[in-house]
Amino acid sequence: MKRIQGWGNKETDYPVPEPARDYLEKVVGKPLHLNNIPIKDLLKKVPDAQLPAHSLILTESEDRLRHARGQSLNDWVDICDGLVDTFPDGVAYPKSNEDVRELIKYASKNQVNLVPYGGGSSVVGHLTPPGEGLPTLSVDLKHLNQLRELNEESLEATFGAGVSGPQLEEQLKKRGYILGHFPQSWEYSTLGGWIVTRSVGQQSYHYGRIEPLFVSGHTETPSGPLILPRVPKSAAGPDLRHILLGSEARLGILTSATMRIRRLPAEEHFYAAFFPDFEIGAQAVREIAQAELQLSMLRLSDAMETETTFQLSGEEKLVNLAKKGLRLFGQGNDRCMLIYGLTGDHATNQLADRQLAHIVRSHHGIMVKFYLGEAWMEKRFLTPYLRNTLWNLGYALDTLETALPWDKIKETRKDVLNAIEHGLEDENEPVLVFSHISHIYTNGGSLYITYLYRRAQDPHQTLERWKKIKTSASKTIVAHGGTITHQHGVGIDHKDYLAAEKGALGMQMIKDLINNVDPEQIMNAGKLIDIN
Ligand SMILES: Cc1cc2nc3c(=O)[nH]c(=O)nc-3n(C[C@H](O)[C@H](O)[C@H](O)COP(=O)(O)OP(=O)(O)OC[C@H]3O[C@@H](n4cnc5c(N)ncnc54)[C@H](O)[C@@H]3O)c2cc1C
Repeated sequence: MKRIQGWGNKETDYPVPEPARDYLEKVVGKPLHLNNIPIKDLLKKVPDAQLPAHSLILTESEDRLRHARGQSLNDWVDICDGLVDTFPDGVAYPKSNEDVRELIKYASKNQVNLVPYGGGSSVVGHLTPPGEGLPTLSVDLKHLNQLRELNEESLEATFGAGVSGPQLEEQLKKRGYILGHFPQSWEYSTLGGWIVTRSVGQQSYHYGRIEPLFVSGHTETPSGPLILPRVPKSAAGPDLRHILLGSEARLGILTSATMRIRRLPAEEHFYAAFFPDFEIGAQAVREIAQAELQLSMLRLSDAMETETTFQLSGEEKLVNLAKKGLRLFGQGNDRCMLIYGLTGDHATNQLADRQLAHIVRSHHGIMVKFYLGEAWMEKRFLTPYLRNTLWNLGYALDTLETALPWDKIKETRKDVLNAIEHGLEDENEPVLVFSHISHIYTNGGSLYITYLYRRAQDPHQTLERWKKIKTSASKTIVAHGGTITHQHGVGIDHKDYLAAEKGALGMQMIKDLINNVDPEQIMNAGKLIDIN
């Protein structure tokens, strides 16, 4: 059963070991013990629904509460601390294209704002009902989860857009195939959500981001169905796939998508390496990327992330042993961990591993072929549960991300981390911040930043702290010319920074497009861009 407050299912927990609690207390201070608002009190906040009745629409309070927010920090404060004040007026669970078309017709006739709901894992406010203007209907696509066609000759598979990560891979695996899209939210996020937010999976280095995997699809829009052709590539003008990718539900509801798939890899391994410091590690990672080695992932943690990972692992003895060993090789407190993945046939993996080892060693790196890589792999979808435990202990944790060319990463990282670390200085509140470079390209990489601070007694203050940090980090990213988002999308939280990236003409083009397809603005109003 999915949690209402926090991430994931109710049955899974990720405990924070005692020494790690001490470590956090040392870095950010003793947390306050705060309780979440009881669910029954949240349910009492759900107001009467403002929707004309329809056989496809449910208006029960629990359905509406469950679809009220996603997973942004703002969302967490709303749902866990009880600040939530807007709810969808109803929830529909369509089972076919026809149902979706019917809901769009209903929305147009009755002037209702539609918010498609995939896995609810948005971290930038994509799902929040606007609270003013039209009433909101959440359209949960969970029943559109079937493999509809598998084309083994062209290596393509068509799925209902509401299929979740595990449902999708399970259906493909039975037939010997894989999509290979593994965002950390994989357990719940869906194909439709991935496409319209341009998501990126952890092994994008091998499988690609969602964009190159997306071949064609069926979208129900307020102006009728948009059906993209199933062609491998085309020179027939602008590529409409790229208009749907990142459209964040402003153009319609994607009901199915045909995806490029691969045969299951013969083998897969994850290993670790350590570098004396982040700068040296980043040079090595750039060299690895530019040598175009056949890897499936590269993730270089900075010293603080490496240390925090050690502390949270709960493997105190092993960590002490590893640290001792690394010191013998001259790697002290600035050490940085690289996790890398090999996915493919044995010979290709072996060759890539040898080539990587050569580059690592030429940068004073140490290869660690046991435990760490596999441990990362095993826990990769469990790690988000840590946010629940930390929240309950009294800490708010959030992430933000950007992508930059190699020549800008060092300076930007320094300034963004600095902005976050000192973001709450006016309150004398320390912030723990760390980062990694992942999703590596020959010309740059994404910078992924995690930060943690103490929740306040007053949830408005917890939120105010988040706003201060987020604003100062976002402004710094934009000032350095970084993208405001490499993978999470725009939603509400990044809307103010979109113009810096698109320019005035670009913004107008996006608005005109949305206005043309959805002149009444019944699709996810208020997200991505303000039209008026
Ligand atoms: C713990 C955690 C880890 C994450 N890790 C990653 C990561 O590694 N990489 C990454 O890229 N992102 C990550 N994210 C962010 C999030 O998972 C992605 O943005 C994901 O693509 C959202 O998919 P979803 O199905 O949950 O969409 P939702 O959150 O339900 O919706 C997101 C947006 O898509 C729209 N939408 C959903 N389905 C459709 C559809 N069929 N048609 C039209 N619009 C639709 C919604 O209206 C909304 O605007 C993470 C989030 C969490 C909470």
